Amino acid sequence: MFAWSMATVCLGGTLEAKLAALSKAGFRAVELFENDLTFFNGPPSAVRQMADDLGLTIVALQPMRDFEGMPEPARQRNFERAERKFDLMQELGVNLLCLCSNVSPDALGDPERSAHDLAELADRASKRGLRIGYEALAWGLHVKDWMQAWDLVKRADRSNLGIVLDSFHACVRHNPIAPMAELPGDKIALVQVADAPGLLMDPLALSRHHRCFPGQGDFPVDDFIKACLATGYRGPVSLEIFNDQFRGALPGQIALDGMRSLEACAERLQIQGQTPDIDRLPGAHLPQPGTVAKVEFVEFATSGSVGDQLENMLRGLGFQTVAQHRSKEVTLMRQNNVNIVVNRERDGFAHSFYLVHGTSVCAIALATSHVEQTLDRANALGATTYYGRIGAGEATIPAVRGVEGSMIYLVPEQSSDASFWEQDFVFEGNQKPKGAITGIDHLSNTVRRSEFFTWLTFYKTILGFEDVPQVEVADPYGAFYSRCVRTANHKVQIPLNVSDGGATVLARFMDATAGSGVQQIAFETNDIFTYVEAARAKGVPFLPIPDNYYADLAARFDIEPALLERMRTLGILYDQNAGGVFFHIYTESFEDRFFFEVLERRGYDQFGAANTPVRLVAQARAQDSRKQI
Ligand code: MG
Repeated sequence: MFAWSMATVCLGGTLEAKLAALSKAGFRAVELFENDLTFFNGPPSAVRQMADDLGLTIVALQPMRDFEGMPEPARQRNFERAERKFDLMQELGVNLLCLCSNVSPDALGDPERSAHDLAELADRASKRGLRIGYEALAWGLHVKDWMQAWDLVKRADRSNLGIVLDSFHACVRHNPIAPMAELPGDKIALVQVADAPGLLMDPLALSRHHRCFPGQGDFPVDDFIKACLATGYRGPVSLEIFNDQFRGALPGQIALDGMRSLEACAERLQIQGQTPDIDRLPGAHLPQPGTVAKVEFVEFATSGSVGDQLENMLRGLGFQTVAQHRSKEVTLMRQNNVNIVVNRERDGFAHSFYLVHGTSVCAIALATSHVEQTLDRANALGATTYYGRIGAGEATIPAVRGVEGSMIYLVPEQSSDASFWEQDFVFEGNQKPKGAITGIDHLSNTVRRSEFFTWLTFYKTILGFEDVPQVEVADPYGAFYSRCVRTANHKVQIPLNVSDGGATVLARFMDATAGSGVQQIAFETNDIFTYVEAARAKGVPFLPIPDNYYADLAARFDIEPALLERMRTLGILYDQNAGGVFFHIYTESFEDRFFFEVLERRGYDQFGAANTPVRLVAQARAQDSRKQI
């Protein structure tokens, strides 16, 4: 059976919840981790029935450990232990037992003896019509690499004994992947996939805590699946992920993330071509997402005097009110092509969002070349999509559910006229006021650690974004991690930010807004110095930067003293790389919530991560002084 599968160990919750989540996410196959059965309150036959009812086939029971090459009397006890597992498998209706290479310090390590044990185990299994899959654990005492496991399987030479290929173990040991394609497909018992970040750490610790779904890490999982399928193997391809964050999240979401990551994998392999039968796997023919041209608008939900303060701050940043909504208490503020919508409605989505989160970004809109196709893709990948409430004559703006239930509207790329703006808004005066802000460079999503991978996979699979390597810096009260997702044309960039620590700037944002969301909006300009002088004159509160920062800059870089002094006076930060130089500045946080950044790139294509700790300390200091922590 050729199918996507997931091991129950990937998910948190009870076995009942796990199986239901897998079925709902579209899985038709599951590997049963024995602990899930041990902790289940019922007989194995009830698990079998439950899986049947949910349309799931249990493709393997795992794991059997520390078996081959043991001295007596442990050897004999192991065979007895195996017979009990076989009993269980027959009750469950499971055909395959996954056996991991031995990690016991007592293991003898004689290949002939180990192969002999595997052969005898297979013979015993054969009497009951069962199969054995043997897998090299990267930290096995004697068998660590798939080539060693294959050597034992060949030596044992039993028709019901095959190898389990696991991308994690192969990649973490830097095993060659391409030669897997030469294995006989009928000798592969199971294919397991997991990705992982390219961290230099002990493989066991990496495996137990940091495995992740394909596309979330740095391993060549696509090449691995390609090699496995090239053998003629047409059995299940199963996610086997040990990750504390996954187990701490809702199983329904993680199951969905897993399915999205596999389907995106199938799509990539299908596009590359030459992967046999990949067409038969779900995801190989997903609708292509449209090309995202820009962030068309950012929408704030607010009300009352706080809404007035927000509009004041935006005016200070150079935005002007250009239009009112035809039927709603919604204002459009604009500067060149940059649109900010301020929504003060008293019912509907934005108001609900405001009641829960206070003044915050409730929606962004992406200008997209093919809106319907992007929506079709989102639906195919199990995203929640909406068609907003509309009044007479108003444009329909479809949306996909984003972070914390915010909306990601999808709007067509604007032609010069007949756009949805004219349908929904009444303009007065200059429709496109000039200003120094020329675009939205990036906007951050601050998210809980437990949902970080979910949103990474969301943006990558549903909207077709790519990601850039993670940045890690210090927060004065903990640690800060950022991984940016962006469109291939870099027109939309969304750093996904997480932190460790209860009083970090990010944690305080999430406390203030009761959840995840847009914490930072970065505008680009072509002349930051003139811009900041004007904005300061209008009373925009910028984040105070210590003089020590500028002394350090002078030590690190060769900056003309007059320029350095001007930066110091205005509070502008600086970075440079091989591509060019970078100037940027942050506003103070609005109500200890979100903040704005203004930046000028001169050939520099990063985000000034070297200055992030300066910003975090300055923000923490400002908040501490107000709250007298
Ligand atoms: Mg495995």
